[in-house]
Amino acid sequence: MTRFNAWNVLKNGFINQTGWQRQWRDPVLKKEYDVVIVGAGLHGLATAYYLAKNHKINNIAVLEKGWLGGGNAGRNTTIVRSNYMMPGNHEFYEHSLKLWENLSHELNYNVMFSQRAHVNLFHSPAARDSNARRYNTMLLHNTDAEFWNLKKLKKTIPHLNYGPNARFPIMGAAVQKRAGTARHDAVAWGYARAADSLGVDIIQNCEVNGFVRRANNIDIIETSRGQIKAKKVGFAVAGNTSRLWQMAGLDSLPIESHKLQAFVTEPLKPILDQVVVFGVGGAHFYISQSDKGGLVFGGDLDWYKSYAQRGNLPIVQDVAEAALSILPCLGRVRLLRHWSGIMDMTMDGSFFICKTPIDNLYLNAGWNYGGFKTTPASGWHFADLIANNRPNKIINNHDLKRFEKGVNIDERGAGPDPKLHG
Ligand SMILES: Cc1cc2nc3c(=O)[nH]c(=O)nc-3n(C[C@H](O)[C@H](O)[C@H](O)COP(=O)(O)OP(=O)(O)OC[C@H]3O[C@@H](n4cnc5c(N)ncnc54)[C@H](O)[C@@H]3O)c2cc1C
Repeated sequence: MTRFNAWNVLKNGFINQTGWQRQWRDPVLKKEYDVVIVGAGLHGLATAYYLAKNHKINNIAVLEKGWLGGGNAGRNTTIVRSNYMMPGNHEFYEHSLKLWENLSHELNYNVMFSQRAHVNLFHSPAARDSNARRYNTMLLHNTDAEFWNLKKLKKTIPHLNYGPNARFPIMGAAVQKRAGTARHDAVAWGYARAADSLGVDIIQNCEVNGFVRRANNIDIIETSRGQIKAKKVGFAVAGNTSRLWQMAGLDSLPIESHKLQAFVTEPLKPILDQVVVFGVGGAHFYISQSDKGGLVFGGDLDWYKSYAQRGNLPIVQDVAEAALSILPCLGRVRLLRHWSGIMDMTMDGSFFICKTPIDNLYLNAGWNYGGFKTTPASGWHFADLIANNRPNKIINNHDLKRFEKGVNIDERGAGPDPKLHG
């Protein structure tokens, strides 16, 4: 694969850009692999890359029913942060952020990671106190965290609604400056290209339809391109996890699939340099400006279970209300597109990277709203689990048995109702 560097860019300028190769191959599906990962979203692709790179396993296939990056990978609002507090979560998300900081170099692909600060507004003394607890815990773990008072906030983001009659009066903000955004497609393409160059077969338009089990193993994977075998199988299918779970003959998975919508406006001149977020009462809102100028934003789940990937008008109204309450200057901006993805919401809002009741099957799921930011660490730890057949210390409690063990990793304190863990 031709590397991206100054010399190759210069050289191709002289030869009419004819020196570049395909970014990844279109290989023929083999009959047998050491590892098969189902799902070529961010997590599946990252897992394949780290399996090949860190664990030198090269006989890997990633099977994708559509095109790579066409699921939540290409539908999210691209926020990356590590402001988590619970044991296990904190280390995991910070590991992820550190991997993000070198990801473009690691993959030799510009993922457009922009550390522009994540500004979490608060509107009441209670919200201030709970943010103080979280951000102080981050400081104790050497993660960057700061509090901005109103004076600093007004100076940095002057066009928020600070008016005396604001629907949600702003008191200040908890800020993580190393947080920011990245280009989601580029992350999928970067991992795909890097995994492919290490020999991973990425098979698009190849749907997994069923499994044949022998003893306590998956013996055969049935796909729309025929049957194949694998020594180990990993699920990384996000909102489709319960479907695959059923195909494998398993039951009772503590995950519900819910819809989450996102929105983008017409391109504007630079207006917002940070990611701004707030959540109060029934309103939840997050916004940033993309490099093309569009404002990218979203709010809450639709709050009913669904596998649909389409937006709808009630949520447009809900999110527009939240937008205008905090940024009234957007009143005349036109909405360009909106869409939906399927969230794999868990009972405590935390993820699963774990073994399953089937010996050679491994699970990567339960990313809720937050699986974009975890892409590098998720791939890294899932690859580590599959290669070594044991969880490492950080993900030790991120398994399906944690509820039995009484270990809830409930970051929001929202209780066992998946739709509340936004
Ligand atoms: C609107 C929205 C906003 C979001 N905002 C953020 C954010 O700001 N920050 C953040 O951190 N996270 C965010 N997320 C969450 C994040 O996008 C997801 O958690 C993450 O992308 C899920 O992992 P994935 O990329 O591997 O999933 P996906 O991209 O959904 O990958 C799963 C793949 O599996 C494939 N598949 C399913 N079934 C089969 C089958 N039977 N056979 C073969 N292939 C199959 C699917 O086609 C899909 O490509 C957001 C999500 C949405 C929808």
